[in-house]
Amino acid sequence: MEEYIRLKQQIAYHMDRYYNQDDPEITDLEYDMLMQDLKRMEREHPEWVTPDSPTQRVGGAAGVRNGTKVVHNVPMLSIEDVFTREEVAEWTERVLAMHPGAEFSVEHKIDGLSMTLRYRREAPGAPLTLFLAETRGTGFEGDDCTANALMIRDVPRSLDLPGDYLELRGEVYMTHAAFEAYNAEQERAGRKTAANARNLAAGTLRLLDGSLTEKRGLSMFIFNVQDGARELMTRHISALDRLEAQGVPCVPRTLCRTPEEVLKAIDRIGEERGSIPYDIDGAVVKLDQIDYRADFPAGTKYSAGHIAYKYPPEERVVVMDEILVDVGRTGKLSFTGVFHDRETGGPARLCGTDVTRATLHNQDYITDMSIGIGGAYKVYKSGEIIPRLNGCVEPPPQVFHAPENCPVCGSALVREEDTADIRCVNPSCPAQLARTVSYFASVGCMKIDALGEKLIEALIEAGYLHSYADIYTLKDHREELIAKGMIGKEKNTDRILAAIEASKASDPVRLLTGLGIRNVGAATARAIMEHYSGIRELAAATAEELTAIPDVGGITASCIADFFADPRNREILDRLEASGVNMKMPERTKASDRLQGMTIAVTGTLPTLGRKEIEELIAANGGRASGSVSRKTTYLVAGEAAGSKLTKARELGVPVLTEEEFLMMIRETDGEESV
Ligand SMILES: [Zn+2]
Repeated sequence: MEEYIRLKQQIAYHMDRYYNQDDPEITDLEYDMLMQDLKRMEREHPEWVTPDSPTQRVGGAAGVRNGTKVVHNVPMLSIEDVFTREEVAEWTERVLAMHPGAEFSVEHKIDGLSMTLRYRREAPGAPLTLFLAETRGTGFEGDDCTANALMIRDVPRSLDLPGDYLELRGEVYMTHAAFEAYNAEQERAGRKTAANARNLAAGTLRLLDGSLTEKRGLSMFIFNVQDGARELMTRHISALDRLEAQGVPCVPRTLCRTPEEVLKAIDRIGEERGSIPYDIDGAVVKLDQIDYRADFPAGTKYSAGHIAYKYPPEERVVVMDEILVDVGRTGKLSFTGVFHDRETGGPARLCGTDVTRATLHNQDYITDMSIGIGGAYKVYKSGEIIPRLNGCVEPPPQVFHAPENCPVCGSALVREEDTADIRCVNPSCPAQLARTVSYFASVGCMKIDALGEKLIEALIEAGYLHSYADIYTLKDHREELIAKGMIGKEKNTDRILAAIEASKASDPVRLLTGLGIRNVGAATARAIMEHYSGIRELAAATAEELTAIPDVGGITASCIADFFADPRNREILDRLEASGVNMKMPERTKASDRLQGMTIAVTGTLPTLGRKEIEELIAANGGRASGSVSRKTTYLVAGEAAGSKLTKARELGVPVLTEEEFLMMIRETDGEESV
């Protein structure tokens, strides 16, 4: 109890430093840990919790629930888009024809998420207090996001304004600076970066932990008074001015009286676009006299008396300087164009950022757009979207052609027939080695669990692995590996070396899968190996022979034949065999009556067998495959993502088998019969 009180005081102190003084003494992580400790104590002793606990107060992370559905008081509608200046002028003129005194507000259309804030006066003389924040949702019903809204500095908790009820609508967004800071932090921590500010802001607002909202620095602008005292519901701009006088950030706005003024204001925002510290996707034109808005309805989806002008994407003409070819981890070639702005000679300036490169996708794209060194191209970027080429302005002396050989390992590249991709299919290609070796060792292949990707990368880096065959020679370097601490100390090194040794006995289906031949996954590998007594026999097969196997198409057949025809792969195969890796299939699983009288159901995704294959095996061994689980079910074979059948089997006490156990059951039969 004493510790609990001390912890509460400690947290209250740090909260004050953080929220009120902007001068935290401890890191966010340390703060979170204190909070976790407090929550843990409160779970153990709910009787200690008092209303003044930091876990109960807003301002802290908890206290208000997020995510409950809320029906909006005023629907949160969209704004109808227009794409030409003529449409803007027409609309303004139409408004002025009916209301000659009409005035307009031209505003930034911020690319964020709409949020409604509801305030009420709890007692006479008290200020208006925020009691509910809602996301837009369907426009008619959204989620309660009050806890997160309270973590946004721009959201006012209380307001000194007339009326007993007030409803504001604003846009939650992320500044470029906050977005970049987030991504820089993610990168440092080796985590995934966010693609754009809007999605990150949306995801953050949906998080149940309000402290993250604070940490990520979301911002908000108010752009409308939705409901409230008459004096705040008459003239739009003056209402926002009154809010701003209370320190509430409101959307930048310009009062306009004529179509010309409206267009000028729109143009000015367009020119400033690059230097605005957040993303905008247009300009909004609103009727300033709120009462007039109802005279200009725009259907049930859109707000009356509003239009949004969408700016055309920004475009520059660039000259191609260089085309970079990279080999990805999957062997796929990627092309990047490096260019300069034809007019300025420097980087292309688009939406406030310097652009010097764009992805060129694939050879078809390059050919279609006549991309080559010295050619001139339009490049555009809208909002946070990555730059794209948008047509050739001046063709190059020569259109670029992808190299014939892998720029990393020199082996002949393969152009895929079904896609425009070009690939290096050499499994020992250094660009792909970490991936091919990891795949070979993975659970679905040779199942060397302990040999993780990080370790594989380190072993490649240190020169121990040049192909997956080298996995089996690691044991020759045992002392060296231990001395260098590559895998850890002696115990850990031996554990992994033992796992590698054990994998040699794997079924050749696993080996074939692990070879990483294109189009040959686990199910195909199993189907193929049903027809061969071992990998060697398969390696000798022609593409034509392979096509005769029901599940093997022409492309797959030639992928297999090409793989085994490549001398480098034959050498790898020799080395695998020399290391003692099993290449032989077990005795053919003959049809038996082992499953006679049994009803077997299957659920989930099995590691190697397809649904049809296992049902055939059940039938071939005298059993009956059933689509559902009942008291009559003898066994349920369950794989990954097993659902209701598994639950039911457990309820009924039906024994559950893994695929491996099922296969053993059939094979054991063979053993017994041959005795
Ligand atoms: Zn290569």
